[in-house]
Amino acid sequence: MSYTLVIHGGAGNITPEIMNKQQEAEYTQALKSALDKGNKVLAGGGSAMDAVVAAICEMEDNPLFNAGRGSVFTKKGLNEMDAALMDGSNLAAGAVAGVRNIKNPIRLAREVMLHSGHVLLCNEGAGEFALQQGVEMATDNYFFNQSRYDQWVEIRDTNFTQLDHKGDNLKGGPVPNTGHKFGTVGAAACDALGNLAAGTSTGGMTNKRFSRIGDSPVIGAGTYANNNTCAISCTGHGEYFLRAVVAYDVSCLMEYKGLSLQDACAVVIKDKLVKMGGEGGLIAVDAMGNHEFCFNSAGMYRGMTNSAGKEEIAFYGV
Ligand code: ASP
Repeated sequence: MSYTLVIHGGAGNITPEIMNKQQEAEYTQALKSALDKGNKVLAGGGSAMDAVVAAICEMEDNPLFNAGRGSVFTKKGLNEMDAALMDGSNLAAGAVAGVRNIKNPIRLAREVMLHSGHVLLCNEGAGEFALQQGVEMATDNYFFNQSRYDQWVEIRDTNFTQLDHKGDNLKGGPVPNTGHKFGTVGAAACDALGNLAAGTSTGGMTNKRFSRIGDSPVIGAGTYANNNTCAISCTGHGEYFLRAVVAYDVSCLMEYKGLSLQDACAVVIKDKLVKMGGEGGLIAVDAMGNHEFCFNSAGMYRGMTNSAGKEEIAFYGV
């Protein structure tokens, strides 16, 4: 019975220079806990889908990551979260965007996939659906995090938005480098039956306005799974990942051009995206259990585990 699980906790300006030993230990532990949760599901004969949800929930509950509990603040000082999930065995998908007070947005994405008859729900409507489905809610206080708040306070009087891992802003002139290194989370898995699944969850960008939505909840951009090709979760500057339809592009290169997982990821992340100016990366698995970590940023919090007992956790570029 062979299986593979990969996870990420965001990509960006993650270098040994900006991480101290304690932070390295905290991130290692956080990624390990998520891998353990997913591994337990797969080792017990569970599905790729359940493993992906278990791993992502663990990271959503950890304030180290910009997802669920640790989500960043919007221009209005709120937490608005995006998440998506896709089942590669039947191309079923569910996603939520701009949701508030949902403890685990990835669970709500799964409810959307299974019980809504739709693929993507947003804002208050998604909240209504969450109540109807009995999805666990949490107070604003649960989502409060001092470092996230400070990160927002530094730029809330500007129109700048900031990706978690970047020291510089994405629009306009420089903003202070807060030194915070947090991230969107994702997982992709191939289970013992050869079924693939992928999921992504994020708080988006600090100081985002106008109900801005990134790539994470958009099927084909930040999240995609198809048993015939691969399962992918992306992280990075969402606007570029949307325009480049990154996750689906990797799948298409495999399906139509016969590229390997490794080559398809490299073409999209290290060539096409770079030429557009898009920074970030992705994690991927294929149905043979091959996996890829591919990024064009300085680093990406990432980890993998498989049925052969292999486990890897890394942050920096190689
Ligand atoms: N891709 C996410 C977004 O643009 C951010 C991230 O990956 O950190 O919302």
